[in-house]
Amino acid sequence: MVSAAGVTKSFHGNQVLKGVDVEVHAGEVVVVIGPSGSGKTTFVRTLNHLEPADGGSIEVNGQLIGNKRGQNGRVVALSDRELSVQRRGVGMVFQRFNLFPHKTVLENITLAPVQLGLMKADEATEFGRSLLRKVGMSVHANKYPHQLSGGQQQRVAIARALAMKPGVMLFDEPTSALDPELVSEVLAVIAELAQEGMTMVIVTHEMKLARDVADWVVFMEDGNVVKQGPPETIFGPDAEPRIRRFVQSVS
Ligand code: ADP
Repeated sequence: MVSAAGVTKSFHGNQVLKGVDVEVHAGEVVVVIGPSGSGKTTFVRTLNHLEPADGGSIEVNGQLIGNKRGQNGRVVALSDRELSVQRRGVGMVFQRFNLFPHKTVLENITLAPVQLGLMKADEATEFGRSLLRKVGMSVHANKYPHQLSGGQQQRVAIARALAMKPGVMLFDEPTSALDPELVSEVLAVIAELAQEGMTMVIVTHEMKLARDVADWVVFMEDGNVVKQGPPETIFGPDAEPRIRRFVQSVS
């Protein structure tokens, strides 16, 4: 479903991704962990071209990300319009929820599918209400973001991403801006999506999330994937000492 091969990225001559290879199969949850500054956020942002990769290749659902094969097989950059069509298939949830402040909860969810012509207004409303039920936010449908807690806003942001019916969901530290007591309600929604078989890539410092929902854990350090495998290879007793130290330091 997601295939990243040899992905590189530099900012002002500072190489922050040094050749990242990650595969995500349909229905799998891949959790990316590692020290601050190791490139996790940059990597997940390359997967939908929010950060264009400098080198390597990224495919999602068989489509090159940010590029296409032109005539005679040459790779050419997508136009902005093509890029926005491509991004519909890849849902993204950010650390800061980025809801539209002047729209209600329900409007936040229905806006994009209606504006892009993917659904009629009443269909989007019905689907939006079902997504609000899924994230436990039905009773807040007509409120505005500032009336909600951070955890509630993040659950709306998840519903908003799901409204585009994406094939893959990307999460960039979805709980790190939340007060500690609000983390678990967001983790519960993510765990439910995992149970339903949603394909997801999640950058997180929540080791409990990684332990509970990951099919595959990627450990990054200094722009490289230094280890990846099933959770037991990272959290089990045989994990490498540096990984064990990291896990202990954030647990
Ligand atoms: P992590 O998510 O693991 O904390 P990041 O991907 O956020 O790591 O950052 C990796 C490195 O790239 C850091 O040194 C960070 O300062 C740098 N970086 C990230 N985004 C930018 C940017 N837009 N401009 C310049 N440097 C950046």
